Amino acid sequence: MRKFKTESKKLLDLMINSIYTNKEIFLRELISNASDAVDKLNFMSLTDDNMHVDQKDLAIRVSFDKDARTITVSDNGIGMTAEELERNLGTIAHSGSEEFKAENADSQGDAIDIIGQFGVGFYSAFMVAKRVRVVSRAYGSDEANVWESDGLEGYTIEPGERADHGTDVILTLRDDEPGHDGEPGENYSHYLSEWALKDLIRRYSNYVRYPIQMMVTKSRQKPKPEDAGDDYKPEYEDYEELETINSMTPIWKKRQSDVEQSDYNEFYKSTFHDFEDPARTISFHAEGALEYDALLFIPARAPFDLYSKDYEKGLALYSSNVMIMEKCADLLPDYYNFVRGVVDSADVSLNISRETLQHDRQLHAIARRVEKRITSELESMRDDDREAYEKFFENFGRGLKYGIYASYGAKASGLADLLLFWSAKEQKMVTLREYVEAMPEGQKAIYYAAGDDRDRLAKMPVVTGVLGRGFDVLLCTQDVDEFTFQAMREYVARDCPKVYEDDAAREAAEKAVADGAEPETEDRHLELKNVATGDLDLASEDEKKEAEETTKEHGDLFDAMKEALGDHVEKVAVSARLGEGDTPACITTEGPLSLEMEKVLKRGPEGEVEGMPKAVRVLELNGKSPVFAKLVAAQEAGDADKVKLYAGLLYDQALLVEGLLPEDPVAFAKNVCELM
Ligand code: ADP
Ligand code: MG
Repeated sequence: MRKFKTESKKLLDLMINSIYTNKEIFLRELISNASDAVDKLNFMSLTDDNMHVDQKDLAIRVSFDKDARTITVSDNGIGMTAEELERNLGTIAHSGSEEFKAENADSQGDAIDIIGQFGVGFYSAFMVAKRVRVVSRAYGSDEANVWESDGLEGYTIEPGERADHGTDVILTLRDDEPGHDGEPGENYSHYLSEWALKDLIRRYSNYVRYPIQMMVTKSRQKPKPEDAGDDYKPEYEDYEELETINSMTPIWKKRQSDVEQSDYNEFYKSTFHDFEDPARTISFHAEGALEYDALLFIPARAPFDLYSKDYEKGLALYSSNVMIMEKCADLLPDYYNFVRGVVDSADVSLNISRETLQHDRQLHAIARRVEKRITSELESMRDDDREAYEKFFENFGRGLKYGIYASYGAKASGLADLLLFWSAKEQKMVTLREYVEAMPEGQKAIYYAAGDDRDRLAKMPVVTGVLGRGFDVLLCTQDVDEFTFQAMREYVARDCPKVYEDDAAREAAEKAVADGAEPETEDRHLELKNVATGDLDLASEDEKKEAEETTKEHGDLFDAMKEALGDHVEKVAVSARLGEGDTPACITTEGPLSLEMEKVLKRGPEGEVEGMPKAVRVLELNGKSPVFAKLVAAQEAGDADKVKLYAGLLYDQALLVEGLLPEDPVAFAKNVCELM
C-alpha cells in the first residue's frame, strides 16, 4: 500500500469532516471530473488529426447496485495511466485538470471549459463512501489500472481490466448510522435509488455539456393478445431504457436574440417554481477582466413568503455550467430580493469547498453590475409599459421604499425615481419626477400626507388646504412611506429646465436659446413635507399677520385651553392652514415625529411599548369658523367650565379626523351628550 503524504492525509481528514457542508455534492464532483475527462479527449481530438473520436459517443454514465451498495460514475474520456492515477489521486490538492488547462492555454483556450481547478473534489466521495475504486484506461494505451482506497491511510494501484479508454469511479457506500441523543443519524442508503440520483443530477449537473445517462425503469402496456376476449384487461410490464437525465444547454449561455421568450418563460417557471410567466427577462454577457453570463427575471407577482422571515434572496451561482450555490445572497441587494436568476462565471474565485465563496471583489463587481441592470430594466418598464410597472410596484414597491429607509437615504439616488405615489390632484400613481414637473411656479417643496386610508387622507383639512392653494399632495398609505421620506430628506430632480429668478436673466437665457444654445438645466432639490407637520410656510404675509394678531388678541383663551388640555398638546394656536368653511380645528405636529409615524411605531413588532416617543401635538384652531366665535364668547363671559369642555371636544374630534381614538372615549361621549 502506498501512503498518502502527511499533508494530504490531514487535508483529506479536513475535507471529509468539515470543508464540505453538504454530503450530496459528491456526485456533482465526480460528474464534473468525468465531464472534464471527456472534454479533454474532445479537445485533443480537435487539435490532433490522428485521433478519431466520435462526438456523439461522448457521454457520462451513472448507475447503482442496491445489494452491493455501490454507485458508479463512468466516462469514456481521456482516462489515466498508472502514473497519472498516482499523481492525480494520490496527492490531494493536485489538479491534473488545472495543469491541462495551463498547458493548452495558448493553443485554443476557448474550446476548453474545464471545471476542475483545486484538486480536492474527488475526495468528497469519501464523505459517503467507505471504499472508492477507480478503474481507468488512458486513451491510446492497452492497459488499465485500478486505484483503490478507504480514504484513511493510503491507496493501492494495481493492473486491471477495462474494455476501452475512460474511467469508472465505483463508490461502496458507508453503512447507515442510527441517530442518538436527539442527533439525526446518517442515511447513505437513500442515494441507492433512481429517483435520488436523477434528482441530484438535475439539481447540480443539469447543464453539464455532455449527456449524463442512466438506465431507468419504465413501464409499458403489453401488446394485446390476438385471442383476447371482451373482458381483456391491459397488462403492464417493466423494462429498462438508457435515458439522458440532464438538459445540457444552459439557456443563459445563448444570446438573447437566439432564444424565444417562451423558452425563457419555461425555464423560469420550471427552475424557480412559479406558475406565471416573468414580467421581465434580462440576459447579458460580461466580458473583460471578469467574464460571466447572467440571466435574470423579474417575477410578475410576489411569492407568498416574500415578506416573511423565511424568504431567502439570491441568484443561483454556476461555475462552468455546474451549480455551486442555489441562492447566492451576495449577488442581490435586499431591495431587489424578488429577482430570480442565474449567474455563471468560470472566473469567480471559489475557495476549495466551492460552497463557501470568498467574499471578494469579483463577486461585488458582479453584484454591482447586476443591480445596475435591474435598475435600468425597471426604469424602462416604468417608461414603456406603465400598466405593467404599476402592477410590479404594487407587488414589490414596498421593498424599494424600504431600501431607501434601511440605507438611511444612501440608496435614494438610484431608487427614488422608481417609486410611485398616489397624487390627490391627478387621481393616479405618479413618480416624484412627474410630481415636480407638474408643479406650478413658486412651489418649493413636495407635499404629502400619510395615513392608512386614501379616502380619509383626501378629506383631511390639512390636505384640502394645500390642494386649495393649487399644490398637489401625495397620499401615502404604506407604513414605510413617511420613514422613507424622512430618510431621503429631499428629492433631487436631475436636469430640470432652469428656473430664473429675475426677468433680465430669463430674457438673456431665452435669447441665447433662440440663437441656438442648449437650454440650461439644473438639479432641483425639493424638501419632502408632511402637510400635517411643522410650518408649511404657505400662508401669505397677510394671512400670517392675521393669524399672529388673532393669537395675540385671544392670548387668554389659548392659555386657558392649553391648561385644560394639559400635556396632551404642546400648544394651542390659530391656524394659518385652515380657511373659511374648513373644520374648526386640526392637530398638527412639531418636530420629526408625525402622528402617523407614532401610530406605525406603536403597532411595531414589539407591540405597545412603555416610553415610546410621542409626536409633539399642536391644536390649531380655525379663526374663521363659527365655533371659534363661540369659544371667544365663552372666554369673554368668564365661563371657564365651558372653555374647558369645548377644548376637550375639539381636541378629541380632531383626533378622530386623524384616525386616532380620543384619549378618553368615555369622557368624550359624556361631553357630547352634555352639549346636546
Ligand atoms: P480537480 O477536478 O479540481 O482537478 P479532483 O480532486 O476532482 O480535482 O480531481 C483530481 C484530478 O484527478 C483531476 O484534476 C484529474 O486530473 C484527475 N481525474 C479525476 N477524475 C478523473 C476522471 N474521471 N478521468 C480522468 N481524470 C480524472
Ligand atoms: Mg474535480
